[in-house]
Amino acid sequence: MPELPEVETVRQGLAEWVAGRTIETVDVHHPRAIRRHMPGDVHFAAVLAGRTILDVSRRGKYLWLPLDSGDAIIAHLGMSGQMLMRTADAAEEPHLRVRIRFTDDGPELRFVDQRTFGGLSVSEGGAALPDEIAHIARDPMDPLFDDEAFVAALRRKHTEVKRALLDQTLISGVGNIYADEALWRAKLHGARATDALTKPAVRRLLGHVRDVLREAIVAGGTSFDALYINVNGESGYFDRSLNVYGREGQPCPRCGTPIRREQFMNRSSYSCPHCQPRPRKPLR
Ligand SMILES: [Zn+2]
Repeated sequence: MPELPEVETVRQGLAEWVAGRTIETVDVHHPRAIRRHMPGDVHFAAVLAGRTILDVSRRGKYLWLPLDSGDAIIAHLGMSGQMLMRTADAAEEPHLRVRIRFTDDGPELRFVDQRTFGGLSVSEGGAALPDEIAHIARDPMDPLFDDEAFVAALRRKHTEVKRALLDQTLISGVGNIYADEALWRAKLHGARATDALTKPAVRRLLGHVRDVLREAIVAGGTSFDALYINVNGESGYFDRSLNVYGREGQPCPRCGTPIRREQFMNRSSYSCPHCQPRPRKPLR
């Protein structure tokens, strides 16, 4: 599932290819891809035709494309959504859901989604920040992210630290992979109680979250299942830099202890039993 670095990589690619271009036509190939656009596919195509895309923005794992009408296209990649730039004569992808053609001769934008958990919608008046995603917290790469407010909010919660990192109302964009990597760097087990962490410990953890995300963006994200690719169809390569995630039984790069896998929030969590001991008292 794409996390912040993957979505940011897509954002950068999209911004390069579509900002400043005017939409000519929109074809919806599968209604499920625009199920969040309540007025339906005819309306979706009509409000976009003739509009110019001004930019490509992101909050957490959501992208939005502000338009010259004051509206915005919201895009969520879900599990397997891809935004691909393709020449008009390129063969149709088997899971092509939406095709956007432009008034110029440049490549078209295709939304391809095998598992159809992702989708597009138009947010009326959402150019600055769509209401639909305004509840999502800023992410730690956002220049306006408030470090001290985050540190205080996390320590106020009586929860496990990994659960807090995955809470999109507290900090957005961090998913399972990057939470595990940041916790390993911080030498914290994900089940540690947030209200028992010191301020410096939380600041340190936030620094590691930022480092991991920054390094992953430079690497173009992590491609685990070949479904995540950038707008040019290329995979990310941060999987080569993972220290714990997906490495059960392999030696911890710091101490050599075999990495363990545990279940947490219905997902696999990876950690080092030596560097990240379980808390003695589990959270109640
Ligand atoms: Zn270790």
